[in-house]
Amino acid sequence: MNKIENNVLIIGSGPAGYTAAIYAARANLKPHLVSGLEPGGQLTITTDVENYPGFGDVIQGPWLMEEMKKQAINVGTVFHNDIVTSVNFTNNPFVSNTESGKEFISKSIIIATGAQARWLNIESENKFKGFGISACATCDGFFFKDQKVMVIGGGNSAVEEAIFLTKFASKVILVHRRDTLRAEKILQDRLFKNKKIEVIWNNKVVEFIGEDNPQTLKQVILENTKNGKKLTLDINGAFIAIGHDPATSLFKDKLDMDNENYIITKNDSTETSIKGVFAAGDVKDKIFRQAVTAAGMGCMAALEAEKFIAENN
Ligand code: NAP
Repeated sequence: MNKIENNVLIIGSGPAGYTAAIYAARANLKPHLVSGLEPGGQLTITTDVENYPGFGDVIQGPWLMEEMKKQAINVGTVFHNDIVTSVNFTNNPFVSNTESGKEFISKSIIIATGAQARWLNIESENKFKGFGISACATCDGFFFKDQKVMVIGGGNSAVEEAIFLTKFASKVILVHRRDTLRAEKILQDRLFKNKKIEVIWNNKVVEFIGEDNPQTLKQVILENTKNGKKLTLDINGAFIAIGHDPATSLFKDKLDMDNENYIITKNDSTETSIKGVFAAGDVKDKIFRQAVTAAGMGCMAALEAEKFIAENN
C-alpha cells in the first residue's frame, strides 16, 4: 500500500478541481489531485468555448483543460491519473483509497467530481448505446457524416449539440418534450436559422429500433406528449442531451446532499456537512454549471481549506 500523507486531496479534474489545485499549490499546501474516470471533465467533450474569460478568440474545451492541468502541475500540484474508490470522513485526517492501491491521509479534502450525462433509461436505449446512441456529440458526431441524426432535449446542451452536428450530418432533428426550449435565446436563434435542423415539439422517445447483427440504430418511435400520437422516423444516430447528475455516489450517507444528490454546502462557502471537507463545481451546483463558476468555487474551496488547516493544525 502506497500511503501518502498530505494537506489537501482534490478529487476531480475539471475547472473546479484544477483551480482548487492552483490556489492550494500557490498557498504552499502541496496538494494532491486524483483525476477520476474522465480526466479534464465535461469540457473535454466540448469543442468551441467562447464564454471562458481571458481568451479573445474561440478556444477548444480539451485544450483549455490541458492548460489548466499544466498550470496546476507547474505551480506544485501532484497529479494522479487514478480513481478514488473509497473515502472515510469519520476522523481527521481523512483516509481515501484509490483504484491503483494508493491511500491518501489528508488534513482536508476538496470534492470536485462534477456531474455526468443523464440517459432516457428506456430499454432499447441500452441496446444501442455506442451503436448509434450517444450522450456526446463532440465525441461521436464525426461518425454520422451525411447521415440523419436526432438530438433529444431542450436545454443549452441539446441546442449546442444539434448545431454542432450539422457540421457532419445531412439532417438534424431536435426532439423536445415541451413546446418551448430552455436554451439561451442566442442559441435558439442560431438553431432556428440553421436549415439543416428540424425541431419536433411536444414529443418524447418511446423506443429505439434497429438491427442486431451488427447492432445498428435504424429508427425511433416518438410519442406526442399532448395527444399520445406515435410517429416512427428513420434515423442513423441519436444524441441524448437531457442534463446531468452529480457524481456523488462515493459520498452517499457520508455528506449531506439534497434530493437530487447534489452536495449541500454552507451559504457563501464550499464547506460541506463535515468540517475540512469542501465541495466545488457541478457536484454542488445545479444552477449555474459553468466552467467559470466551477473555477470560482474551486478557488473558494482552496482558500477555505487553507484557512481550515491553519486553524486546526
Ligand atoms: P438542462 O438545462 O437541465 O436541460 C435539460 C433538457 O432536457 C431540458 O430541456 C429538459 O426538458 C430535457 N429533459 C430532461 N429530462 C428529460 C427526459 N427524461 N426526456 C426528455 N427530455 C428531458 O441541461 P443541459 O442542457 O445539459 O444544461 C445544463 C446546464 O449547463 C445549464 O445550466 C446550461 O445553461 C449549462 N450549459 C451551458 C452552455 C453554455 O453556456 N454554452 C452549454 C451547455 C450547457 P424540460 O425543458 O421540459 O425540463
